[in-house]
Order: sequence, then structure tokens, then C-alpha cells
Amino acid sequence: MLEGLVVPGRFQPLHEGHLHVFRYALERAKMLYIVVGSAQESFTLKNPLTAGERIVMLEKALEEDLGGGWHSRIRIYPIMDINMNKVWVRYLEQLLPPFDGVVSGNELVLALFEDAGLEAIRPPLYRRGECSGTIIRRRILEGNPGWRSCVPRSVVEYLDSIGFTHRIVRLAKHE
Ligand code: NAD
Repeated sequence: MLEGLVVPGRFQPLHEGHLHVFRYALERAKMLYIVVGSAQESFTLKNPLTAGERIVMLEKALEEDLGGGWHSRIRIYPIMDINMNKVWVRYLEQLLPPFDGVVSGNELVLALFEDAGLEAIRPPLYRRGECSGTIIRRRILEGNPGWRSCVPRSVVEYLDSIGFTHRIVRLAKHE
């Protein structure tokens, strides 16, 4: 069992694939550090939600999936991107508690952690044909309610409460 693993993501929006990555990481480390990446981004088609909204969404989904005890093993950090990939892992080391490596399917993230001499663990894919932020955002634009089957119930309720589908449609008109 490792001491700590980082799980970076944009969570635009959070879906069942992300929850599978969290469960996979929790089997391998005592502590999980979820990085809400690209924290400076919001109100764009690729990154419609703010970092704060993504944190609320994560807290609701973790509570639904793992119960109230998740706080003892998981921490959430909003982190802005930097223009220097080579030192991104060192930047995370400055902002997070000590960690052994990362769990990610993102090739750049895996490459940067390997380069830094840390663990770079690739999780298995889960329903990738539908559980993907890109596909969910596209389905919303097409008016296809199928996206809801991939998103935890508490997150669907939250997204409805902040007018998420309406936001995406408006952003598409703007861009
Ligand atoms: P994402 O929300 O698309 O995915 C998060 C994680 O979930 C990834 O590991 C992805 O592989 C996994 N995943 C998604 N769908 C899945 C499924 N169906 N089954 C299993 N796993 C699934 O987020 P992302 O784009 O990977 O986030 C990386 C973040 O790190 C971004 O914010 C990026 O900007 C940031 N980053 C920043 C720098 C820098 O600042 N220089 C460098 C590298 C990465």
C-alpha cells in the first residue's frame, strides 16, 4: 500500500469513469489527493464549470459513493495550470502533501510523473464510449438525455440546480 496518490482531472463534468479511477486509486494508497486541474478555467465549452462548482460536485459524488467517511482518505485541491510542463510535478509537490505518484489515463500526466521518477499508474477504462466529459458535453448540445446515465444521481441534481445544460447551450452560441 502506497502512502499517497494524486488523481488529476478537469471533471467537466464528473462522471462514473472518474469514480472508478478514485476506487482504483483507493485500493493502492492510504491517501488520495484529487487535483481539480485547470482551476483558472470556466464558462468555456471545454471547461464550462468553475473550480468551486467542480469541488461541490466531487463532494456530493464522494458522499453518495463512499459515505461520510471519505474525508479521512481523500482531499481535494483546485490547481491552476502552469506554462511549464517539465516542472508541473514539482509544482504539485509544493502545493500538496507528500505523494508517491499518480493514477491517470492522460498520457501527458503519466509522462510527466514518470519523468519525475514517481509512480505512474494507468487505471482501466470504464464505459469509455459514453463516460467521457467530451461525449457528455456533446450529448447535452445535441439534446440527448443519455448523458445522465453516466453521471451520479447527486451530481445530476446539482448540475440541474445550477442550469448546467442551459449554460452549455449558451456557450455554444457564443463560441
Ligand atoms: P479528465 O477529467 O478528462 O480525466 C480525469 C481522469 O479520469 C483521467 O485520468 C482520465 O484518463 C480518467 N478517465 C476519464 N474517463 C474515464 C473512463 N471512462 N474510464 C476510466 N478513466 C477515465 O481530466 P484530464 O484532462 O486528464 O485532467 C488533467 C489535468 O491536469 C488538466 O486540468 C490539465 O490541464 C492538468 N495538467 C496541467 C499541466 C500543467 O499545468 N503544465 C500539465 C499536465 C496536466
